[in-house]
Amino acid sequence: MVCLKKPDKPKHRAKILAKLSQKFSKKYLKRKCALENTSSGVFFIWKKGVPMSKTPEIFNIIDKLYASASLTRQELRFLLDNRDGASDERLFERARAVSARAFGKGVFLRGLIEFSNYCAKNCLYCGIRAGNAGAARYRLNKEEILKCCENGYSLGFRTFVLQSGEDPSFSDEALLPLVSEIRRTFPDCAITLSLGERSRESFEALFAAGANRYLLRHETASEAHYAKLHPPETRLPSRMGCLRELKRIGYQVGCGFMVGSPYQTNDDLVTDLLFIKDFAPQMVGIGPFIPHRDTPFAAFPPGGLEITLFAVAVTRLLLPEVLLPATTALGTIHPKGRERGVLAGANVVMPNLSPLENREKYSLYDGKICTGDEAAECIGCLGRRLSAVGYELSFARGDAAGFAAD
Ligand code: SAH
Ligand code: SF4
Repeated sequence: MVCLKKPDKPKHRAKILAKLSQKFSKKYLKRKCALENTSSGVFFIWKKGVPMSKTPEIFNIIDKLYASASLTRQELRFLLDNRDGASDERLFERARAVSARAFGKGVFLRGLIEFSNYCAKNCLYCGIRAGNAGAARYRLNKEEILKCCENGYSLGFRTFVLQSGEDPSFSDEALLPLVSEIRRTFPDCAITLSLGERSRESFEALFAAGANRYLLRHETASEAHYAKLHPPETRLPSRMGCLRELKRIGYQVGCGFMVGSPYQTNDDLVTDLLFIKDFAPQMVGIGPFIPHRDTPFAAFPPGGLEITLFAVAVTRLLLPEVLLPATTALGTIHPKGRERGVLAGANVVMPNLSPLENREKYSLYDGKICTGDEAAECIGCLGRRLSAVGYELSFARGDAAGFAAD
């Protein structure tokens, strides 16, 4: 029970209610609280059986985050530990406002080309890990990749995201001519790479050949957690070293993580959010963990929708101008996951440009959506989905602030 005002007249009740309604959503007030005007004061009473919420404090923290784009570890932890439907609603609304201020109602389109599912690594969560003998492997050749770009270009895509496992066949010798040719053929397009960890020399050479952006999720910024998700030879300092190199070279860099990955704690999530704020990347990929049947994590549950949206929204508020996708994984755990992502501050979607016959094989997790749809269909579908929630696809190249197209 919270005392709002010392002895007061019944007629002031309506005024106080109106004031409170401005602060909290009306629906929320009605569901959880009541006002009582007694001779010793006006009281804000928690309804019987409804657990006392920390909502007022949470709302203050959200307002601080909105106003200052930063929070302390303690505040982030408090927010995460005590969040509820009402506070999430407020958080998403603030994240939307910040996103709209930076990008309007446009959602950037990126064309994903998954060109090889061979991988030398053994990340425990991933369906195309080297140890999965059941994975049917494929790799596209240069001509096939260029064909995907051509198809994408004709549909209006102006960013190509080339993603693969860590495939030793794609040495610099193979990759540099490919990147150079995409750069030559599509001078007005951005080339984003997502090839995992490589040497500093390789990152430099690929940048010089014309790549502009690099996506390398840090996966988790906590060493102890990283060690639970990866075999001993795959180490966090190496991943973080790559991210720093990429930034130094001049790429627009994306880090990111999975929400609800096995053994993740709230403290780990806070560490991720603080790392993102501190590293200040141009892009952040956040999606739920989804189990893959042929991995050691097959029996773990997927990450939740609301908590993933929470991480997306906090990231938007921490880095107002960051490029933030509503990921395919989000669309996989919930039929409206990508729309909900946009309504929580995301401003990028990444439909697939890979040949249809390979889509099923690039199986990082079970149940991936859109494996049977042509890119053209995906554009139509995404356009309709976005317009239903008041947004529209943007066909602009969509570089990060401060990175003009060359
Ligand atoms: N090999 C590259 C790029 C391909 S993997 C790399 O590792 O960077 C791209 C991303 O897919 C990974 O960073 C990881 O965050 C995500 N991913 C892998 N397995 C997943 C799973 N089971 N659920 C959700 N996301 C997954
Ligand atoms: Fe390979 Fe990337 Fe999967 Fe790890 S997450 S196993 S590096 S494809």
